[in-house]
Amino acid sequence: MSFWIKTNRFIKAIFFNQVWDVPNTKNRIYLTFDDGPTPEITEWVLAVLQEHHIKATFFCIGNNIDKHPDIFRKLIAHGHTIGNHTYNHLKGWQTKQSEYIENTEACRKAILKHSGSKTASCLFRPPYGKIKPLQSRQLRKSGYKIIMWDVISMDFDKTITPEQCLENVVKNTTPGSIVVFHDSVKAFKNLEHTLPKAIQLLKEKGFEFGVLN
Ligand SMILES: [Zn+2]
Repeated sequence: MSFWIKTNRFIKAIFFNQVWDVPNTKNRIYLTFDDGPTPEITEWVLAVLQEHHIKATFFCIGNNIDKHPDIFRKLIAHGHTIGNHTYNHLKGWQTKQSEYIENTEACRKAILKHSGSKTASCLFRPPYGKIKPLQSRQLRKSGYKIIMWDVISMDFDKTITPEQCLENVVKNTTPGSIVVFHDSVKAFKNLEHTLPKAIQLLKEKGFEFGVLN
């Protein structure tokens, strides 16, 4: 696996056009959830966040928004922010420029259609973190911020234990961190263990929770 749990500063410096963290003086961190809306799982995440009075950012797959618009609308009603994660969870490195841009546009339309808002999100996270420089450039030109991460929980990795997943998050989160989780079926075993405990421990460390927008 080629993932660093904590994104190293050289990667951040090379890909400086992409957002890796949000430096701030308020001890604020940013929880993000990719790949939903997913029945039951996204709703479970919403309940955990609500219990702790925390807002987060959800990078939704357009096709999942169209399949589960009621859950998508709940995200918005709860005050969370939304980001675009393409319509079909495309891997940028293996996708033609025009197809990648069209697929992102299809997700934008799904967000607009079901959010009831006149403006769609300007946040975009490339599935798998894999995006070609030209794809990134074209999306940024049309107004998107490309949101990467500072800490990846690895919740989707079935070879790690839930305890390891929790440690990944709690040990590596620092002020300004953007932290990635997944509200997906695949990640749920690790997420279910990690999310409530991580929130508790991060609160005890004095962190506040913000949304990206
Ligand atoms: Zn994803």
